[in-house]
Amino acid sequence: MKKIVLILITLVCLQFAHAQKSLDLNYYLPQGVTYDQTIPTPKEIIGHEVGEWHVTHDKLMFYMQTLAAASDRISIENRGATFEGRPILLLTITTPENHQNIDQIRKEHLAITENGTIPVDDMPIVVYQGFSIHGNEPSGANAGLAYAYYLAAAQGPEIDAILNSTIILLDPSFNPDGLQRFAYWANTNKAQNLIADNNDREYHEVWPGGRTNHYWFDMNRDWLPVQLPESRARIKSFHKWMPNILTDHHEMGTNSTFFFQPGEPTRVHPLTPKMNQELTAEIGTYHAKALDKIGSLYYSEENYDDYYYGKGSTFPDVNGSIGILFEQGSSRGHIQESENGLLTFPFTIRNQFTTALSTIQAATVMRAKILKYQQSFYNDVRNEAARSKTKALVFGDSKDAAKTWHLAEILNRHKITFHELADDANISGRFYKKGAAYVVPMNQKNHRLIKAMFEKRTTFTDSLFYDISAWTFPLAFNVDYKELPNLSNAGPEVTDFKPLKGKVTSQSGYAYLFEWNEYYAPKALNRITEKGLRAKVAKSPFTLEGKKYDYGTIMIPVQNQSLNADELHAFLQRTAEQSHIEITAVGTGLTRGIDLGSNDFDPIKKQKIAILVGEGIRSYDAGEIWHLFDTRYNIKLTKLDASYFGRADLSTYTDIIVPSSYGSFQTKKNAVKLKTWVKNGGTLIGYRNAVEWFEKNEFVQLKFKKDTLVAKNIPFDQKRDFLGAQVTGGAIFEAKLDRSHPIGYGYKNNTLPLFRNTNIYIEPDKNSYNNPIQYTSNPLLSGYISEENTKLIKNSVPFRANRMGKGRVIVFTDNTNFRAFWYGTNKLLMNAIFFGESM
Ligand SMILES: [Zn+2]
Repeated sequence: MKKIVLILITLVCLQFAHAQKSLDLNYYLPQGVTYDQTIPTPKEIIGHEVGEWHVTHDKLMFYMQTLAAASDRISIENRGATFEGRPILLLTITTPENHQNIDQIRKEHLAITENGTIPVDDMPIVVYQGFSIHGNEPSGANAGLAYAYYLAAAQGPEIDAILNSTIILLDPSFNPDGLQRFAYWANTNKAQNLIADNNDREYHEVWPGGRTNHYWFDMNRDWLPVQLPESRARIKSFHKWMPNILTDHHEMGTNSTFFFQPGEPTRVHPLTPKMNQELTAEIGTYHAKALDKIGSLYYSEENYDDYYYGKGSTFPDVNGSIGILFEQGSSRGHIQESENGLLTFPFTIRNQFTTALSTIQAATVMRAKILKYQQSFYNDVRNEAARSKTKALVFGDSKDAAKTWHLAEILNRHKITFHELADDANISGRFYKKGAAYVVPMNQKNHRLIKAMFEKRTTFTDSLFYDISAWTFPLAFNVDYKELPNLSNAGPEVTDFKPLKGKVTSQSGYAYLFEWNEYYAPKALNRITEKGLRAKVAKSPFTLEGKKYDYGTIMIPVQNQSLNADELHAFLQRTAEQSHIEITAVGTGLTRGIDLGSNDFDPIKKQKIAILVGEGIRSYDAGEIWHLFDTRYNIKLTKLDASYFGRADLSTYTDIIVPSSYGSFQTKKNAVKLKTWVKNGGTLIGYRNAVEWFEKNEFVQLKFKKDTLVAKNIPFDQKRDFLGAQVTGGAIFEAKLDRSHPIGYGYKNNTLPLFRNTNIYIEPDKNSYNNPIQYTSNPLLSGYISEENTKLIKNSVPFRANRMGKGRVIVFTDNTNFRAFWYGTNKLLMNAIFFGESM
């Protein structure tokens, strides 16, 4: 036995050494297989061997297109474009015979999820394989070259059996923009004599690195919210095919080996069936066998979990599919020293190739069993749905149709059935308006997915989470919602989901008004001030011509503007359409309440806004803000990089945003520079731990509530769990909102759900009017928080606005722009920008 092991090790080492010297495609491919000579290898098309350089997205696409043209096993489709205009391609790979009937096969496959009795034994299994959703985890996407070649060119009974019984959906790059950014970095820093020294520049990407997409989002959190173009394409393919297995190939730290799911057994979401994990484990035996064969170390059932359904390997689990996460220790560049010896890029690629192949080998053998699992999953869901005491959910915001529409848009993307509200209705003390509310019947195929999106959960079997512990969508959107015992409020089903509209009621010779509640009101206001038009904000409610106007109503007078009355009307008409709001023309300034000429209308300045980015700034937080301004509100935002911040002239900016920051940005020099600018009239807005930095540098006087927890009777090996349990990784809390304060303008209710992922707790000010947002005495709405932190958060404040010289400092301890789907709190930042001077 020992001898055989020794021979094996020698063989592996020889093969390894060989791979280093002259890299060959055979290093990746299984032995003893012949290949169709008419199919081009990657090197013939892209000019280098797989693993010799980091493949750029352009070359990856070029190869996949060439391969598809050369092989009758492959069809290719372009499903859209990334923010940077790169194609989002998908390859469908199976036998030419299956391709002939592909649509028929797809329809029959979908029927499995609708019909509990149809025989599935002779149907093919559908496997969706995707790579490198984190662009700087490149071994997956690079393995895709060799893997696609193998699927196109391999000959013999094994590949025939696989292709005959499997429809493979191959997504060569989950994150084209990130992959391109990373490939540029790794390739431009590569030396002819490969440098394995971790200190080399090759292994230290410049900010923000290639992990994220164009706006610096972690796209592996967006499978459920579906806010980014790449996710939209992916989710569309998912629902089009309802794959049985979905794999997600990642990388982790350089000193790690290889991970495949199942992950931590105690951290599986309760809506995921036990059978899902059992099948994942059985598929895992195929990975183990394949990795054993090539001598690679690996592990499972540790570190990673299956909790948040917004991740690629967990989203499938609530949809009758099996999501599988792979994590390969990263060489990052081309070769790196590690605790396991020299880690080469080709070695990482080979492990990904090997498990991509073991996945479809498992799928082929386990085909009938997995198809039956999918069928029984939907059988169970149908039974659950029919028995559900809750017959429907209603959600809406009677004053914000756009925000409501965007939540419905997510349901639409997930093929969840929903209806219009039949008529305006008062339900449990909340008003729901037809056109700004929807009804979701619970007795439907996606019953469990709806639960995963709408449920509030506050008890957990484990206190550790790999990601957020709550994502309750109606709270994130701050819409009213209610479970209903019947369908009496449901109008017609929405089958043709129409885009949003906007209009001006008529032409006015006096003034125009619009309320601040609509989601896109800031977009309209910015367009108006950018045009050089005068606008004012109402600091009190009033009633005019039979209509009530709330705090924060925007008024545009007709007289003394740079546009004449006709031009102004036409401009506002376009503004209303583009911003999906209704602008009301009024004929008089005399109101019940403050008149339109009152001093209780504050003028609104044209804003010039900058955000700090770069080294020392948390890129996710900065990217969320950039995306919000740029893509939702069309507001120009200057990105000031920390590297030249010290030299930049700040005098023209009205507002500067400092996202969550750390270390190298938080210098005395930067503090002095910002302080001088504030004293001269600027509005400084800080988020999360920038707040502590502001406090330390006396921008703002705050008292923090700190926990005094010490470990008692906790042994060393439980230290990590003990500390981990104190992390507030992401949960939702309720605050009281003072709607008369400018920070509360545009909100309908007196309470507001907030997302929080810090443990920074500010004591309330002794004057209540300085605490316009304050957590309630029992604020947890959904998610996990430790007992100790529960005590600290109650009655604390997540917001403060203070004057300093001619300017002001505004701080948020919470992330109000979280991951592009927290529509409910996006307005807070807009209020700080446009109404900061009234605070
Ligand atoms: Zn990753």
